Amino acid sequence: MPNQNIPPLKDPSLFKQNVAYVNGEWVKAKSGKTFEVQDPSTGKLIGTCPEFDKADTDNAIATAAAAFPSFRQTTARQRARMLHKWYQLMMDNQEDLAKLITWENGKPLADAKGEVAYAAGFFEWFSEEAPRADGDTIPASIPGNRVFTIKEPVGVCGLITPWNFPAAMITRKIGPAIAAGCTVVAKSPGETPFTSLALAELADRAGIPKGVVNVISALSNTAEVGEALTSSQTVRKVSFTGSTAVGKLLMKQSADTLKKLSFELGGNAPFIVFDDADLDIAVAGALASKFRSSGQTCVCANRIYIQEGIYDKFASAFAEKVKGFKVGGGYDEGVTHGPLIHDRAITKVDAHVRDAEKKGGKVIVGGNKMPKLGSNFFEPTVITGMNKNMQLASEETFGPVAGLFPFETEKEVVDMANSAEVGLAGYFFSRDLQRCYRVAEALETGMVGVNTGLISDPAAPFGGVKLSGFGREGSKYGMSEYQITKMVTLGGM
Ligand code: NAD
Repeated sequence: MPNQNIPPLKDPSLFKQNVAYVNGEWVKAKSGKTFEVQDPSTGKLIGTCPEFDKADTDNAIATAAAAFPSFRQTTARQRARMLHKWYQLMMDNQEDLAKLITWENGKPLADAKGEVAYAAGFFEWFSEEAPRADGDTIPASIPGNRVFTIKEPVGVCGLITPWNFPAAMITRKIGPAIAAGCTVVAKSPGETPFTSLALAELADRAGIPKGVVNVISALSNTAEVGEALTSSQTVRKVSFTGSTAVGKLLMKQSADTLKKLSFELGGNAPFIVFDDADLDIAVAGALASKFRSSGQTCVCANRIYIQEGIYDKFASAFAEKVKGFKVGGGYDEGVTHGPLIHDRAITKVDAHVRDAEKKGGKVIVGGNKMPKLGSNFFEPTVITGMNKNMQLASEETFGPVAGLFPFETEKEVVDMANSAEVGLAGYFFSRDLQRCYRVAEALETGMVGVNTGLISDPAAPFGGVKLSGFGREGSKYGMSEYQITKMVTLGGM
């Protein structure tokens, strides 16, 4: 079993139990109910959190609404300073925040530290963007008129995020919301609430005014809380990151109040290696894209397409590297890959591997559960001889399984890549400049990595097409998701 005795936090007050953060206060659920959070490495209890219901959520929404009129009057420069302070506090507490992430999510400590820096990067980037929220002066078509635009904050925002990046998913939403002058109610992920609550503590220390940032928690009442956020007329925007199925539900629930929506949903990323690619760069890209967070990222390579001329060489170089991974508890020395989040994830991954085997795939590395480590561990796996009839071809695996599909021509692989109903990220490797443009334009995805497996950057617009959702996070486009463009026409000149 992994050694999961969490090293003591330098600042123990960052670990908040049994309380959520509403109106600048640490509060319990009115019902007094709580839910338990387990360490995915050991199954041991980490702590308990308040089980919020509709009434608690409505109260948090009312708090955010009460804070909005004065917060929207703050200057962009004031909001920039607050966000920058929050960024600095995250970096000052990087080690503690990383320990919390590893504890509740399972990823290795080094990856968790990287996530904290990435997550804080959204506060830094949006602190710089806040003062640039300028409008336009537009030449009018009607003589004597003058037309200009003002960027205004949308209002109260409901934010819902998943467990796979407990810090980054929430800062990616709160950063632009605060920069724009919105107030928020953020529902933390049921599996990993403690990182979000630590961030709320740092918001307090950064001087974010009471009621502007509210962080709530729920597990069995998740659907009730989601409905309270989506059906409220006061909440003017909902931003959701999670599965396509839940995204569709939240969109339906938001219809009656016609909310502004952003949905960052599931992916099934094609990862294409052409014969003319640099093999070492392609292997390194595939390792990073496929196995980061044990395959539990929405932009993870899911279908790895290798052109026939390079297939065998790629498969053996890639498999060699995967054999070198060390799976274990996130705090343990030398561990490169942690557990999956829960047993449902293990069941899905196992089903995809067994299905591929049944349909002719050959497991060349891994392929099995790791009961000696614990019930949530699965071997990093490589399967060759994949084909389009396998489950992995059409469903997001969300685990450490790399299926290698052979292909012959560029047209064939682009068609296969685009056959998915989702379109979040796509990757390809080639040294042919014309092909780089052609394929980047042809892929039906919101993001494309060319000769790289890592594309996430606070400065770049992140988001999907098709059933991967709509809206963008990060960059100036991420800011506009939290703004209204108001047009003013001045006549009688
Ligand atoms: P999920 O949709 O089950 O849960 C995501 C979040 O929504 C959690 O906080 C959960 O508590 C909440 N939720 C669930 N049901 C809800 C409801 N009825 N009302 C309100 N909230 C509800 O997804 P998951 O399985 O936890 O996360 C993995 C999925 O998220 C994958 O499909 C992955 O691709 C996707 N994801 C997408 C992105 C992106 O940026 N596109 C990023 C990370 C994860």
